[in-house]
Order: sequence, then C-alpha cells, then structure tokens
Amino acid sequence: MKDGNCIFCKIANGEIPSATVYEDDDFRVILDLGPASRGHALILPKNHFKDICEADEVTAGKLFPLAAKIGAAMKKGLGADGFNVVQNNGSCAGQTVFHLHVHVIPRYEGGPVMVSWDPGKAESEELAKTADAIKAAL
Ligand code: 5GP
Ligand code: ZN
Repeated sequence: MKDGNCIFCKIANGEIPSATVYEDDDFRVILDLGPASRGHALILPKNHFKDICEADEVTAGKLFPLAAKIGAAMKKGLGADGFNVVQNNGSCAGQTVFHLHVHVIPRYEGGPVMVSWDPGKAESEELAKTADAIKAAL
C-alpha cells in the first residue's frame, strides 16, 4: 500500500534519492534533512500508514528492534553517547509528514537540551481517574 502523493512513500521506495543508512524489505532508514543532531535518522516503513495507530502489528513490532539497531550503530559509528527514539502522531504532537516514521536522534554529551518537558503535578486521585478513562477505551 503506497500513497502516490506521499513524499515518504517515494523516498522509502527509492523513487526519490535519500541518504540511506539501512534498507530491508519493509523499511528504509534515512538521514533527516533538518537534523536535530548529527546523524538524526528516520525509520520509514515502505508501506504507507498515516501513523502508528494505522500500522499493522507486524510492522509496528519491528520498529523498536530496528530503532535499537540504528541507535547502537550511531553510538559505535558516530561516537554518540545516547539517543532518543521519538515518534509523533497528529499535528498537535508535532507530526508534519503523515507517513509513519520513527526519529532516532543521536545525543552527545554537552549537546543541546531537546525532547524534554516541564514536569507537571498530579494527585493520585486524578491519576486514577485518568487511568480509568484510558482503560475504558482500550
Ligand atoms: P515529524 O515532524 O512529522 O515527526 O517529522 C518529519 C521529519 O521529516 C522532520 O524532522 C523533517 O526534517 C523531515 N523531512 C521532511 N521532509 C523530508 C525530506 O524530503 N527528506 C528528508 N530526509 N527528511 C525530511
Ligand atoms: Zn506514504
């Protein structure tokens, strides 16, 4: 399933060239054109899914092992000290390209702060209510 109007479908399937670091039957891993750090990579499924909720379980199940493989290679090959695995769903969550992708962002000691938030505060009663609302929708 490809979407003819989707740029990541075209990149993932090799119709548009990219700096590719890994490819197999299901995925292409490319370097991000607007990197948050040196080596910032995107894991693109070759099939089109809008987001993680649309992906089948087999595809979704391969994403974390692949992210780990790419992250480990960033540590070994680029000297990264760690890495973030980030995946945005929905424009309010920062998704700008509506073809499922996983960011693997190498992190270097002393590098800029990113992928962070100001922790809020929650009472245990409120947490229990929120948990119930999610549980009821599963
Ligand atoms: P999102 O905000 O949807 O999670 O991430 C989209 C990412 O794709 C951004 O980090 C952006 O820099 C990257 N990007 C957008 N268009 C292209 C492109 O044509 N080629 C590459 N390599 N990266 C792209
Ligand atoms: Zn697509």
